[in-house]
Amino acid sequence: MPTVKNWQLGREMSYPYDARFPSRQFAFVFNINRCIACQSCTMACKSTWTFSKGQEHMWWANVETKPYGGYPQWWDAKILGKLEEANPEGQSWSGKPADGRFGPYGRFDGQTVFEAAARTLTPDSARVLGYLPTDEEWNSPNIYEDNPVGKRGVRNRLDDTGVQLPVHNTWFFYLARICNHCTYPACLAACPRTSIYKRPEDGIVLLDQSRCRGYQECVKACPYKKVFFNALTGVSEKCIACFPKIEQGLQPQCFANCIGKIRLAGWLSPPDKANPDNPLDYLVHVRKVAKPLMPQLGLEPNIYYIPPLHAPPGFLEQMFGPGVVEALATYRHADDDLAGLLGLFGSTERVVPRWKRTGQDVIGLEEDGGEIVRVPLKEPVHIRAGYDETRKIMRTNCP
Ligand code: SF4
Ligand code: SF4
Ligand code: SF4
Repeated sequence: MPTVKNWQLGREMSYPYDARFPSRQFAFVFNINRCIACQSCTMACKSTWTFSKGQEHMWWANVETKPYGGYPQWWDAKILGKLEEANPEGQSWSGKPADGRFGPYGRFDGQTVFEAAARTLTPDSARVLGYLPTDEEWNSPNIYEDNPVGKRGVRNRLDDTGVQLPVHNTWFFYLARICNHCTYPACLAACPRTSIYKRPEDGIVLLDQSRCRGYQECVKACPYKKVFFNALTGVSEKCIACFPKIEQGLQPQCFANCIGKIRLAGWLSPPDKANPDNPLDYLVHVRKVAKPLMPQLGLEPNIYYIPPLHAPPGFLEQMFGPGVVEALATYRHADDDLAGLLGLFGSTERVVPRWKRTGQDVIGLEEDGGEIVRVPLKEPVHIRAGYDETRKIMRTNCP
């Protein structure tokens, strides 16, 4: 089996496919702290791409409430359980993220979905450890919305002893999800028809429906469960990263319609080629505030999340890998550069490949330096005549 370097794991790993790297990789950062679960993103995708017959259960974009929500139900707990079962030695990390010996998150010593499959699955054609969700698990896209954990994880019951900062005893957060357009896609590796491919120009992962025969190996293999089978047409479908918009330099539908302004799309460099003028490189590699979803699965996903404040670090580390505590500390004490860049999220429909801060302005730039958008670091406050004087002390800046 070919060996590839997975920088998120801090080591090489086996990958059952001849990986081809794009000239540049399309990637995204989601700031979880700003998501209000309005589902505008979900509906923007649905009304654009999946409103036809046979697509009723397809939610290429969805927002689920963690820890209990999930679409399909229990996708995260199920795949992590399968990996634990396949690797009783433990799914652990070694090396501190800060010491830089292995990679920015240390080194993952457990088994990825590809390695666990090679060790435990038969026949040889099974290339990825996965499972096919049941019809029932696809039934409820928004199950457990707004359900917090109760005492010691007891469901449907609030903690009656109050809260303790900085971590609340009772907590939940919203996890917005789309296809990760992974560097090492499990869907692609598992397809016996080579119907799935990664575009060389931008790394977007697409499915050629004319080649697909509906075997659903991709649905089974994607640990994030972001490929969907259309029973009416007999072939599979998935998020296309709104490539017709990307080709025009525009952000996808679920980004442009995000009410909470939690999303930023762009291009991500490998860590050794990080450019601080690139907003995604700055957030992921330079300031390290944005983390991949379950890097331990081994797919090198290309969505990066700024983790939520006030959720238990142990849960967040399982979900976003090592370095979460440091990321939250950086986010909590954001300086003008970081706070300014966070202000660029949702400020324009255009993809912003470069950025800079000049005094009190943060500017989104084209590759050639042309200005796309300018956002003030501090919004001006206009007090209307007769407004209560005490209101004048209201905060003028939110990170
Ligand atoms: S998230 Fe799933 S569907 Fe998307 S590229 Fe990765 S493996 Fe494929
Ligand atoms: S990027 Fe486009 S296709 Fe993908 S989930 Fe968002 S709106 Fe849907
Ligand atoms: S539109 Fe934005 S704020 Fe609303 S649910 Fe989607 S990601 Fe969250």
